[in-house]
Amino acid sequence: MSPIDRILDKALRGERIDTDECVTLFETDQIEKLGAAANQLMQKWHPEPVSTFVIGRNVNYTNICDTYCRFCAFYRAPGSKEGYVLPDEVIFQKIQETIDVGGTEILMQGGTNPELPFSYYTDLLRAIKERFPNITMHSFSPAEILKMQEVSDGLSLEQVVREIHEAGLDSLPGGGAEILDDRTRRKISRLKGSWRDWMDVMQTAHKVGMNTTATMVIGFGELLEERALHMERVRTAQDECLANGYSSKGFLAFIPWTFQPDNTNMKAERVSPEEYLKTLAISRIFLDNIPNFQASWVTMGPEIGKLTLSYGCNDFGSTMIEENVVSAAGATHKVNIESTLRLIREAGKIPAQRDTKYNILKVFNDEHIRVERDFIMQN
Ligand code: SF4
Repeated sequence: MSPIDRILDKALRGERIDTDECVTLFETDQIEKLGAAANQLMQKWHPEPVSTFVIGRNVNYTNICDTYCRFCAFYRAPGSKEGYVLPDEVIFQKIQETIDVGGTEILMQGGTNPELPFSYYTDLLRAIKERFPNITMHSFSPAEILKMQEVSDGLSLEQVVREIHEAGLDSLPGGGAEILDDRTRRKISRLKGSWRDWMDVMQTAHKVGMNTTATMVIGFGELLEERALHMERVRTAQDECLANGYSSKGFLAFIPWTFQPDNTNMKAERVSPEEYLKTLAISRIFLDNIPNFQASWVTMGPEIGKLTLSYGCNDFGSTMIEENVVSAAGATHKVNIESTLRLIREAGKIPAQRDTKYNILKVFNDEHIRVERDFIMQN
């Protein structure tokens, strides 16, 4: 048996692979073999031929940021004439529009704005929940949470996370993970905090009962060992969450992305679709304690998005209505609800709308064609 076959066989038997074995998988070009193993492992979690998606909206509430990540084309420095903070009424309107098209999730995401006090976030969340009690606020990255702590006049991280959760934050997206290793982080986002800072926010969120997700961005010139270490750190934190018996389910999903170099201050080769698919398959094989893997069609485009559903993904992500952060860096693929349904079907799966906790809300199978047509026409 070849070393690759031996490692895949081990994973398929339900045994954990280690970081050295993970690197060995990264070194192979047998990506179809990796995809087939990842697909089998995905089917153990999700035996039904269903691929899910969530209807949500990104609300980029501010672009003012004092973290200055080298790869970011979205932010404006404090004091810039192009800096903005969206008025609350505009945010409410965007949420209403999301609800009007059957959306359930709002991903508020912005810069680390030093001019906003902690009360801005808690007041805004309370006002949102008062108007829209059923919307799920899956918002703010660890960098924004750490900025909230910085402006909070001495609150501990746990107090900040508890207060923001009580104010209406339901779950925490895994943005800003980039590569969870400080050598790469120092190179690309020196001020964003260490990998440990990112993980502390996530583990605190788990402790207070919030689910989160984890991302990984490849293409910064990171070593394969650093990608393996990133996954190892996520897997260990997930083990800890599950062992502690928190009401949180920890990381509900893992989402690998690729760095988009256009319009940024960093020169880097674009990651090939093959490298992305390989990374996705390996992460499904390695992360045996995370149930859901999300396609990254925003950066890779719908056709590769379709292929991800046979490389370990069970989820097509969000039908994002707005995505200024990624589109500022040149990835402008947009997938609306209708084409999401079409692409999932073309990949041989049955589409289903889910909520942020991955509960299925509506299955779009053949018997539901009429319902679906009505749904699309209404929206
Ligand atoms: S990635 Fe986020 S934290 Fe970094 S500069 Fe851009 S907006 Fe700021």
